[in-house]
This record gives sequence, C-alpha cells and structure tokens, in this order.
Amino acid sequence: MKPPVKPPFSSSAKPVSPVAAKRPGFPVRLEPDAGTPSATKKVAGRAHPERATGIIDSKKQVKAVVPGGVGLDSKAVRARMVQKLAAQGISDAQVLAAMGHVERHRFVDTALVNQAYEDTSLPIGLGQTISKPNVVARMLELLRQGAAGSGGKLGRVLEIGTGCGYQAAVLSELAREVYSIERLRGLHEKARENLRVFRLANVHLLFGDGMAGYAKGAPYAAIVAAAGGEAIPPAWVEQLAVGGRLVAPMHVAGGAQALVVLDKTPQGVTQTVLEAVHFVPLKSGTS
Ligand code: SAH
Repeated sequence: MKPPVKPPFSSSAKPVSPVAAKRPGFPVRLEPDAGTPSATKKVAGRAHPERATGIIDSKKQVKAVVPGGVGLDSKAVRARMVQKLAAQGISDAQVLAAMGHVERHRFVDTALVNQAYEDTSLPIGLGQTISKPNVVARMLELLRQGAAGSGGKLGRVLEIGTGCGYQAAVLSELAREVYSIERLRGLHEKARENLRVFRLANVHLLFGDGMAGYAKGAPYAAIVAAAGGEAIPPAWVEQLAVGGRLVAPMHVAGGAQALVVLDKTPQGVTQTVLEAVHFVPLKSGTS
C-alpha cells in the first residue's frame, strides 16, 4: 500500500476559533446532568473536550424556549435519522453506524441547525448544498458494495465536491484515507474549519478542480462525486483502481440527472445508471 500522500495544491487556512465557540450546540439535553457526559463524548473515535462550552451554553439558551420534559440530544436525533434511513432501504450496518456518529448539525449554519437531521438538502453557502442524508448514505452504501469495499474498510477514497465537509467526515469512518477536493475556496476553508474539531487524521482536504481528480493519491479504491456533469471525466476513471467503484451523478437524456455506478474490472469498465437525483453542477476551474 502506498503511504498517505502529502496534502497537495492547497492553502493552509487562517486560524479560526473552534466551531463549538461560534455555534450553539444542538439539540440539547434538558436533563440536569446532561452536560458532563456530552463534554467528553467521542465522535469518529476521538474525544472533543472543547465541545463542552457549546453544549452547556446551548442548554441554557434552549431551556428558555423549549418546554420542559422534551429530552433531546443530538445522539438521539441521529439515531432516529438512522432508523429512517434503514426504513428507506439503507442496510449497510457500517454506513448506518457512521451516519449515526457524525454530527451533521456541526456542518450547517446556526439558523438551519434544527433541520440538520431531516431528510433534506440544505444550503451551505456560495449557492451549494449539503446532500440529504438519504442520498449520502445511498452513495456510500453503493461505494462499499463495489469489489474493493466488500467486507472491511475501503482503502483510499477520492471525493469530488467537499462542500461543507460532512460527507468527508462520514467517509473517514469507512475508508483508510479520504482525499476530498473542492473548487470553491470559500467552501474549502469552511470545510477545514468545520472538520477541525473532529481531528480526522485520515481526511485530506484539497483545493482545486476535481475534474482532473488528484493523481498523487491514485489509484483509488473508490471515487464519489457530489456534483454532476455531462459525463464522467476520464481522469476519474484513470485514477480508479482495478476492482474499484465510482459513484457520481451524471446528466442523462432529457436534461435529467441520475446516479451512475462505474466499476473498473480487469475486463474493462461497466456503467450502471440508477435512480434520478438532483445534484449541483460539476464545474471546471476554481474560484
Ligand atoms: N459532499 C458535500 C456536498 C457539497 S455540494 C457535503 O457533504 O457538503 C457539491 C460541491 O461540489 C460544491 O461545493 C461544489 O462547489 C463542488 N464542485 C463542483 N464542481 C467541482 C469540481 N470540478 N471540483 C471540485 N468541486 C466541485
């Protein structure tokens, strides 16, 4: 196996204050002893003591507006989201577990926090959106069903369209290394800020045009795109390992978009067109 590749043509982001200090924690435990366990809660296998302040502050804030007795915490809300995903047909236990761990509310703006676990896409700035949980889970399940993913963790994975960084965080639990490219500097930096608190050593955020893939990390066991173009860029297919799988939205006849699964086998490349989806456009260049 190749060693992890050094983060590439990227900027180093300016120092920013921790996410927890800027945003109210969500949703909130109303039990009197709730602050203590939450303060050392592990997400993606890592402790985050710096969250304590946000959680305790928001407990106070929400107490004023939420009727007493509504025992909510974000873990319970995520568990309900996972139940819904399972009811909708997502059956991969590892995907469901990862979706249950990653705190989606930390990736959306404060005003949208209450919708963070609804099955809806949400704006993340610069005209882009975070995909709805069902679509994220579906794509990751499809990736894991590829030959390279059967059984244990995926090896190196390339994500095109980091956006707010949510899917990269989920992927970090399912893959050994995650390379995630974003073409909009503002979102690349936002993702860096969002992910800082999770300290995911296996996620490498790249700023650049993902249409060219990221050759230094190739070959990839899996490639996933969160933006759809007219066709699958040839660089992605080249950078996919034999035995690897690519999942991406793509334009199909009639101006619609569909999810496409591409498997690279020793005999050649097979392409399967699945259900209709609605992703933001894949664009070239950076800005
Ligand atoms: N997975 C993301 C979804 C982001 S939406 C999340 O969890 O938030 C898709 C993203 O793809 C947008 O941020 C858009 O700017 C980006 N994008 C579109 N074309 C791209 C390209 N050629 N290279 C890299 N990113 C691209």
